[in-house]
Amino acid sequence: MNADRLLSSFLDLVAVESPSFHEAPMAALCARLLADLGFAVEVDGSAEATGSDTGNLIARLPGTAPGRLALAAHLDTVMPCAGIEVVREEVAAAEMGPAYEPDGPALEVLRSAGATILSADDKAGIAAILEGVRSAMEAGAPRPDLTVLLTTCEEQSLLGASALAEGALAWPAGLASGFDGAPGGRPAPGTPLPCYVLDADGRPGTIITGAPCHWTMAAEFSGRAAHAGVEPEAGASAIAMAAAAVSAMGLGRLDERTTANVGVIAGGTAVNVVPASCRLEGECRSLDAGRALAQRDAMTAACERAAAALGGAVEVTWALDYPAVLFDDDAPVVARAAAAARAAGLAPRLARTGGGADANVLGAKGCQAVTLGIGMANFHSTDELIAVRDLEGAARLVEALIAEYAG
Ligand SMILES: [Zn+2]
Repeated sequence: MNADRLLSSFLDLVAVESPSFHEAPMAALCARLLADLGFAVEVDGSAEATGSDTGNLIARLPGTAPGRLALAAHLDTVMPCAGIEVVREEVAAAEMGPAYEPDGPALEVLRSAGATILSADDKAGIAAILEGVRSAMEAGAPRPDLTVLLTTCEEQSLLGASALAEGALAWPAGLASGFDGAPGGRPAPGTPLPCYVLDADGRPGTIITGAPCHWTMAAEFSGRAAHAGVEPEAGASAIAMAAAAVSAMGLGRLDERTTANVGVIAGGTAVNVVPASCRLEGECRSLDAGRALAQRDAMTAACERAAAALGGAVEVTWALDYPAVLFDDDAPVVARAAAAARAAGLAPRLARTGGGADANVLGAKGCQAVTLGIGMANFHSTDELIAVRDLEGAARLVEALIAEYAG
């Protein structure tokens, strides 16, 4: 792992603005960098479905030994991301949180000058993949067939990964493979592809074994408009219905695996009109698909009871944004990530998260997808930062994964 090259590659990636739906310049840069490493690069046809100005980037490098490995990250970032200025400074270890030894030496971190995000989410992931692959190639050690997947619109409910076509990650018949000539040859079609998504907080070595499914709710309450001063009795307040429904719902952290939230409320037209309509938007998440369905039904019932009690009606719709991922602690795809972490000098730590990532949908795309921590902190904010040593750890982890999956 070449630390200087890693840092300069990270800064090059950060310099290219790539908010969701506008990832084309970033995709072009990554395509060039991967092609320079010898990858066969293609852009899939997902742009039409996602509304982005580019598709997902899929790059393949034939192995020198039997084995398969996919590495994934996302091209897009949240905003504000225009003109990111990176500053390098020292931060006391105690300020970095419990994952760092409080009495340890100060840490060098990268952060933005303040007006924007840093975009370590997920350019640190991309930089780690590029440097890890490059280092493995320079070392000349055996390597598996490598697939690099860089998705669009991850920050938009995983739109890019969701739009990957069935079979898009299969190894093309016409492309050489490290399995060629090996006993048993190439894996049977349909054999899940181990895929590591470099896109979580937590120091490198963090292995996300569970992430919840995500349901989104929209509830439209209908009441009856009336003059609020002259004949309020003739009205039925849709805002009161929505308020009663929210009050009756269990929200927040419901159990170890389940959360729920109402995040948007909008309704009414003027202070002197009993409101005839009100809209609620909310969500529920759970590692347990059945528990999520039960919570979804309870939130629907709360809406229906409130509407009926106050003389109105409600229409509730739910959409599943992505399913849950849940691996046993001793699943091979987890154990091999832990082995690679140890080989890279990192402490493996298994964790579950309440957020979604591309791994949530890649399970349905022929992958066994596990998200890995890369050390980004305070992400989705202008306080976002990453410790230089964590960026380096993520790149060493990629190199160790390549070694782990060779043969
Ligand atoms: Zn991310």
